[in-house]
Amino acid sequence: MKLLIHTCCADCALKMEQSFFQAVNKHDLNLAKQSEDKLTNQDEMLKQQKTDIESPNRKFADIKNPNFVKMPGEMLFYFANDNIHPRSEWLSRYRALKKIAKERNWKIAVKNYRPSDYFEHILSLGNFPEESQRCPVCWRLRLKNSFNYAAAHEFDLVTTTLLSSHYQASKIITRIAEDIAQQYPQVDFWQPPQINKDSEFKGFYKQNYCGCAFSLVERMREKYKK
Ligand code: SF4
Repeated sequence: MKLLIHTCCADCALKMEQSFFQAVNKHDLNLAKQSEDKLTNQDEMLKQQKTDIESPNRKFADIKNPNFVKMPGEMLFYFANDNIHPRSEWLSRYRALKKIAKERNWKIAVKNYRPSDYFEHILSLGNFPEESQRCPVCWRLRLKNSFNYAAAHEFDLVTTTLLSSHYQASKIITRIAEDIAQQYPQVDFWQPPQINKDSEFKGFYKQNYCGCAFSLVERMREKYKK
């Protein structure tokens, strides 16, 4: 199974990687529970799984479990974020992702930056739409881009690092992703059963606003109000 992970930033990508390995290890454990042979060695296995989760060097490519039926075995982090403003901010987030991807041997792909696509969709809602109006449109746009790429490159599953953020409405994002998936018979939406939303990761650029020009203005207003 090939999984495309729509990626908003390096920090959320790292949280999604953790969630993925937790899901993989839980899946492995369930399979092992079905086998008496493996049960005899469960303490060792649990110890190994703990190490796997904590090891920054475990690579997606290391996962060779032949029993992967519904679990993804190959990953691509897909940076598709026309919402980000300005271009320098888009570049900073993309460079941070490239740095982490190199350190952790991730495969990444990037969608050409076309902020006009974002503005066309959002400005049809008004001059400065509220978050409650603009964010669902923004999530749909990025997820749609990701499903398009996944379908064109024969991926089976799509998920998004937006689900790892405390600041995004994960239930609405899930509903949007499931809705888009209906239009792609070959591609399903997938999410880890448990998603880690807390980050302890350091050593790379981290943003201090959501991404779009509107969220930047809102951030500045908040800052200078104090
Ligand atoms: S606040 Fe964030 S999610 Fe909402 S429209 Fe702006 S970039 Fe998109």
